Order: sequence, then C-alpha cells, then structure tokens
Amino acid sequence: MKKIAVDISHGKSYQILIGEGIVVEKGLAAVLCGRGSSCLVVTDRNVAGLYKKLLPPKMRTLVLPPGEKEKKFSNIERICRGAVESGLDRGSQVVALGGGVVGDMAGFAASIYMRGVDYVQVPTTVLAMVDSSVGGKTGVDLPEGKNLVGTFWQPAAVFADTSFIRTLPAREIRCGLAEIIKYGVILDPRLFSALEKGMKFLLACDLSVYEKIIARCCRLKADVVEKDEKEGGLRAILNYGHSFGHAVEKVAGFGKFSHGEAVGIGMRMAAKFAVASGMLSPQEERRQNGLLDMAGLPKSVKASAEKIYSAMFSDKKARAGRLRIVVPRAIGRVELLDSPDPGRVLSAIEAYCSP
Ligand code: ADP
Ligand code: ZN
Repeated sequence: MKKIAVDISHGKSYQILIGEGIVVEKGLAAVLCGRGSSCLVVTDRNVAGLYKKLLPPKMRTLVLPPGEKEKKFSNIERICRGAVESGLDRGSQVVALGGGVVGDMAGFAASIYMRGVDYVQVPTTVLAMVDSSVGGKTGVDLPEGKNLVGTFWQPAAVFADTSFIRTLPAREIRCGLAEIIKYGVILDPRLFSALEKGMKFLLACDLSVYEKIIARCCRLKADVVEKDEKEGGLRAILNYGHSFGHAVEKVAGFGKFSHGEAVGIGMRMAAKFAVASGMLSPQEERRQNGLLDMAGLPKSVKASAEKIYSAMFSDKKARAGRLRIVVPRAIGRVELLDSPDPGRVLSAIEAYCSP
C-alpha cells in the first residue's frame, strides 16, 4: 500500500491511500469507521450493481444514474435532500463511491450542504484515482458547457483501491491511461520511461504496477496543486492537451470520444504545434505519440479543423477571447503560451482531422 499526503492551503491536509483490496476486502464501513457522526454514500447504478456487497444495509446510500449527462444541478438537490433524509449534520460526511462524475457531484453537494461537510472519496476508475482525487475541484455541467459551476473543496481522505480497475471496461482504462501519460509528458521523464516499459503490464491489468503509477501521478498532481490551488498559473500545466481535447470532444459530439480519448488527440495536436514552432524535437513528439498508440488511444477525429479551432475559444480557460495553450518542450517539461500563432494552431489540428 502507498500513502500520499496532500497538503493544500489552510493547513488542511489529507491522505490518499492506494492499494489492492484496501476497500473491497474490508468493506466500506470498516474503512470509514470512526469518521464523522454519520454518513451518506453516493454512487451510481453500475458501481452499486458490481459492488453491492460493499454497501451494508445499514449504510445509507444514494444511487444515481451513471454517465456524464447526469452531472447536473438536479442531482445535487437529490444528494442534499438525501443528506437531510439520512439525518446528516455538520459533523457528518458524504462518501463518493464511483468515477469522476460521482466524485464531482458528491464533493459539490458536500461543499454546500449545511455550508460544507466532510467528504471521503473512494474512486473506482483509473481516471478518478489519478485525477479527481487530488485538487479538490467539484461541480456540475450546464447545458452551455462542462464544469461551469462548482467549488474547490478538499476531501477529508481518499481510498484508492486498485482492485476496482478489474471490472472497468477497456475503454475506461484507456481514458485513465491518457491522463497518466499526460503526467509523464508535463512533469516526469522517469515516469514516462516507466510507462514505455510498463504499458503492457497496465494493459494486462497488473495491479501492483497500477499502484506505483497511480501513487506517482497523485504525488505529481499534489505538488502542483499545493503550490497553486486555485489555478493562478502553475496548475494550468495540468491542462496539457485539454484546450485542444475539449474542443475535439465538443465538435465530435459529446459521447463520441471519452474525455481521455479526446485529451490524447489534444496532446498529439499540442506536440505537433510545438514541433512546427521549433519548441520540441520531432523525436520527442514521436515518443509521446508512440506511447499514446501503445495505450490504444485514437489517432484522429472525423471533424472540420476550423470548427475545432473556433471551439477552443469557447473553452472557459480561454480568457477574454485569448487562447492559452500548454506546449511541450521535452518529455517532462512544458510551458504556457499565450496567443499562439493561429495558422500554426490550425495546421496542428488539421494534422489529426480526417474527413
Ligand atoms: P470518469 O470521469 O472517472 O471516467 P465516470 O464517473 O463517468 O468516470 O465513470 C465512467 C463509467 O464507468 C460509468 O458508467 C461508471 O458507472 C462506470 N464505472 C465506474 N467505476 C467502475 C468500475 N470499477 N467497474 C466498472 N464500471 C465502473
Ligand atoms: Zn482531464
């Protein structure tokens, strides 16, 4: 088992425990025992179905329908009303058992219920283990765009049981792998090399390799977020591949690509831009793309490059109509670039668009 201490502002630090069976073998009640006066477990139908035995009858559970389209205000009201019904008070806690969608909503509800109660995350997807469990971003989507409403609310603890990965569909695993590769490219050449050697073990669901890799990603993200909780600057490097990726997701039609698949394509576009700008060597671009290929991530999107380009300006991170992208300089090092050359951005997108 690995332990990562996350020490984010206001002296409120918490621990991420990562290990095989740490929740599934002991049961949720045992893991949570002694924490808070009472609790409400929020999960989705898929996870509840697969892990019924984790939910003892005396634990109050709210089961939501699965999927990104459920990340909406009406479910926040359901969770808060469920909390009242379950008698949660200010000393109680909300437990998020599921992927990023469940985590974002349960965290958001916890941050506003009675002006804020504790919440504990039990992430069940690779993506949620490496991404949503560090950083404290919570929220919901609006019909106008993703993640437009939310709060920063740090969990009281995170229990990442790698054995949840065994039941994940292959596509969900790939989605997490894209985000893992991202950490290598932006911050850690050693992690990147370890992934080149270890990708076959990850694809074969070797949980001991996952444990090490997930712990490393959580540490890297925690180091960034500890320095820049509210995304003043540094934290923006975590958005590598995301300005392009969000636009790809939107233009391809939400649901065509998963988040990670779109981010993978976005990383290819950002690296192409970097090479064209003389900021990255073609060899390093090939290394990045080779690893994305190994993970089985898609290589192109059927869409118009112009549409993707203009969608990049409606991203909430494009401030005052100005684009800001994260550009790789080498494996393990990126920099932020404001107002990149429009022609180069467009041709980088075109390189991965098919008719
Ligand atoms: P993320 O943003 O982390 O990818 P979601 O919350 O959208 O996650 O979850 C992705 C999908 O995977 C959902 O349909 C969810 O119900 C399902 N899911 C989550 N965890 C597991 C698991 N351990 N095994 C099987 N399916 C899971
Ligand atoms: Zn992401």
